[in-house]
Amino acid sequence: MLEVAGLVVRYDRVPALDGVDLRVGDGEVVCVLGPSGGGKSTLLRTVAGLEAPAEGAIAWDGRDLRDVPPHLRRFGLMFQDHALFPHRDVAGNVGFGLRMQGIDAPTIRARTDELLTLVGLPGFADRPVRSLSGGEQQRVALARALAPNPRLLMLDEPLGALDRALRERLVDELRAIFLRRERAVLLVTHDHEEAFALADRVVVLRDGRVEQDADAATVWARPATAFVAGFLGYNVTTAFGSQIAVRPEGLTLTPDGSAPTDAPAGAVAVTVVDRTFRRDHFRVRVRTAAGEVLDVAFREPDLPAAGTPGHLALDPAAAVPLPA
Ligand code: ADP
Repeated sequence: MLEVAGLVVRYDRVPALDGVDLRVGDGEVVCVLGPSGGGKSTLLRTVAGLEAPAEGAIAWDGRDLRDVPPHLRRFGLMFQDHALFPHRDVAGNVGFGLRMQGIDAPTIRARTDELLTLVGLPGFADRPVRSLSGGEQQRVALARALAPNPRLLMLDEPLGALDRALRERLVDELRAIFLRRERAVLLVTHDHEEAFALADRVVVLRDGRVEQDADAATVWARPATAFVAGFLGYNVTTAFGSQIAVRPEGLTLTPDGSAPTDAPAGAVAVTVVDRTFRRDHFRVRVRTAAGEVLDVAFREPDLPAAGTPGHLALDPAAAVPLPA
């Protein structure tokens, strides 16, 4: 089990990590989620041993890793930009860590072929890496990180550079690989879809501090702070009284004069600002009298125009109370 306690990393006295606690159990997939600049890559580099912490401890199964150099930690790190060796072929990249361990060539070749099949690239061993697409390079980088069978696999934005169709396929494949290996996985991303698709537990990192650390379903349904709620696409609002988070689907907009009955009790007066199309529905943005702008999901194509007055009602079951 990986245990990180009170980790502080500073660049020119400015903290990139400011007291981070984190655990990753064997067989567990933990995703650190947060905006760019929050310290995610720094965390991975520090756990890998490529960056020295100013304070705090990193331990594996209770053993402090302070004096263990990166190549002896038995951790695998897949960088965001793949960092493949451009002058080597696919097999040369995948087998790199195994050659460093002094393993014999036939064993390396067999393991390389096995891994290329696992990541969906059978028969790619002799291809120059320069001839590969971005998605194929990502898979080679993954195979290279997996090759020495690391006890902790770390992935920096594993789906970052891929188009949507490829991402969705690779999500399923990654989950299957994680399940089969039963090893610890720590990944980082700024993309919440990626985090919730892959992780058992989500740790939200903001400005080098942990905002929330809980199982993925809890973070998704019960964001602990206004920051987490906003980052996950909730409206954060005081329009209905106390501070709450509500998804666009938890709000109903009724344009004035369109309904036979009066606005429902507790509804607040709003004006339509604009409307946009999302993947499978419309979003209407409305402004309250107090000037707050909220997102409302709209299923019908018959959208109210900008400037339309209306009333906004809240589904109380969809409201998540937030600390003031
Ligand atoms: P993320 O991966 O979440 O985008 P990073 O860990 O890359 O965040 O960066 C966290 C903060 O540390 C940022 O403010 C970044 O500018 C700073 N930082 C990262 N690496 C270095 C470095 N090598 N030298 C100086 N500052 C750095």
